[in-house]
Amino acid sequence: MHFTGQVWRPPFEAQNAILQITSGCMHHKCKFCSLYDGTAFRMSPMSEIEKDLEELRDFHLLTNRIFLTGANPLGLSYNKLVTIGEKIKAYLPHAESIGGFARITDVKSKTQEELCKLRLIGFNGISIGTETGDDRTLAYMNKGYTAADIVEQLHKLDNAGIEYHITYMNGLAGSGNSERHALESAKIFNQAKPLSINIVGLTIFPQSALHKEVLSGIYTPASEVEKLYELKTFIRNLNIHTVINANTVSNTAPFVAELPHNKEGVLEALQGIVDRFDETCLSNYRNSIASL
Ligand code: SF4
Repeated sequence: MHFTGQVWRPPFEAQNAILQITSGCMHHKCKFCSLYDGTAFRMSPMSEIEKDLEELRDFHLLTNRIFLTGANPLGLSYNKLVTIGEKIKAYLPHAESIGGFARITDVKSKTQEELCKLRLIGFNGISIGTETGDDRTLAYMNKGYTAADIVEQLHKLDNAGIEYHITYMNGLAGSGNSERHALESAKIFNQAKPLSINIVGLTIFPQSALHKEVLSGIYTPASEVEKLYELKTFIRNLNIHTVINANTVSNTAPFVAELPHNKEGVLEALQGIVDRFDETCLSNYRNSIASL
């Protein structure tokens, strides 16, 4: 199999076959991000994709889902995605669904009709790094879209029948801005139908542009305690049926919960963490994270 640089996939895709169709990120401008550092964006040549599909056919013939690699493989043109989707079907006839990471702008670049056709080919369950519904934070972090874009593009996915997971980056707005970030995000995410909201705790690595802003005093990160209160506000204000996955290394208080069913229990548990662990303890954990 061909794999370039670091390969990322959500934890819930762990059982699925992985196929590299892109590497790196088309955008590569989000201030907090160091995920694809040193890996230029590239679409894999079809010859490489076909070789990997041959290998998957030999070892994963019965796989029912393929996860496409790269930060935003869904950013490829509609025609390229159709060609790749059809190749996947030809080699792996049991692969009913095709997932991968996507940016909001990747959805924006497709028409409603194109999205409907992509759903018919099998594209479904895509993971979108929305991070926040707060316009000031989206702009500050160079995400490249607005909160209104999030609502509009997720509605397009709903209309096409393409299911999706989105992310909330806890602490992203920085010290003193957590309440706004949580409330604005809940307001925007409440207008969508995500299968899950994946909580990523902001962890600033030295390779990121944000790290330089921290060193120069331009950006002050939220404390870990502030992040936990922010998370409580975000969850309290969500009123949709979804699953919250806060179960990766970036979460100081790991949990998985179904909303609205587990809402009160989660809020109590988060308060319990704040009551039992002080800032030093939580920051020590954050500082010990070597990689996402
Ligand atoms: S957060 Fe996602 S879109 Fe932004 S630079 Fe990183 S990989 Fe690219």
